[in-house]
Amino acid sequence: MNQIWIVVVVMAALLIFTRLRARRRPEREQRPPGATLRIQGYQVSAYVHPHMSQACLYDHGMQFGKGFRRKVGPALPHDAGCQCEVTPFSFTSSEVFNGALRSVSAIRSSIAGLPAAQAAQLVQRLKAVEARPLPDDAPAYIAAVEPQAFAAQMRAALEDFLRERHRFLRRRGASGPQGEPPRLPDNASGELAGPGAEPAKTT
Ligand SMILES: [Zn+2]
Repeated sequence: MNQIWIVVVVMAALLIFTRLRARRRPEREQRPPGATLRIQGYQVSAYVHPHMSQACLYDHGMQFGKGFRRKVGPALPHDAGCQCEVTPFSFTSSEVFNGALRSVSAIRSSIAGLPAAQAAQLVQRLKAVEARPLPDDAPAYIAAVEPQAFAAQMRAALEDFLRERHRFLRRRGASGPQGEPPRLPDNASGELAGPGAEPAKTT
């Protein structure tokens, strides 16, 4: 009789033990191997058109936020013609590792059908070319941007864009080294900054 009881108790103990193990295992497997970091920020994106100011051009792509070197963005709008937008974004550390931060949002441009990668290339070329003194004639400015580096079917539209951009820059008098340097406001509002003010002391 005693032996039967021992068997029952052992069986019950085994049953409880396997149940507990089954319940605990998934939890253990779900735990990630390391803490996943989430990076949140904001990105400035300009509307790329021939009459955009150089402030808009140079601030295009700027990323800022809590985890960034730059905590606050530029004071927008840059000017009357500014169509810059600020887009929030959020990535995990592994996505960042794979280059996600470099392709946050598609570039809006006035050149119909310009693929995103070529729009990004155009912005890069404009930033480089316009950091130098503006050539007097449009063909020299167009050549500096190197339209041959773009898709053949985009070249005519691109050259129209650059001709108009050159006319605009000439009118604005943006010549000489650096032309009109990008504006970096130092009076930006502390919207994203933490609560720096200490609570008022009452005595
Ligand atoms: Zn702007």
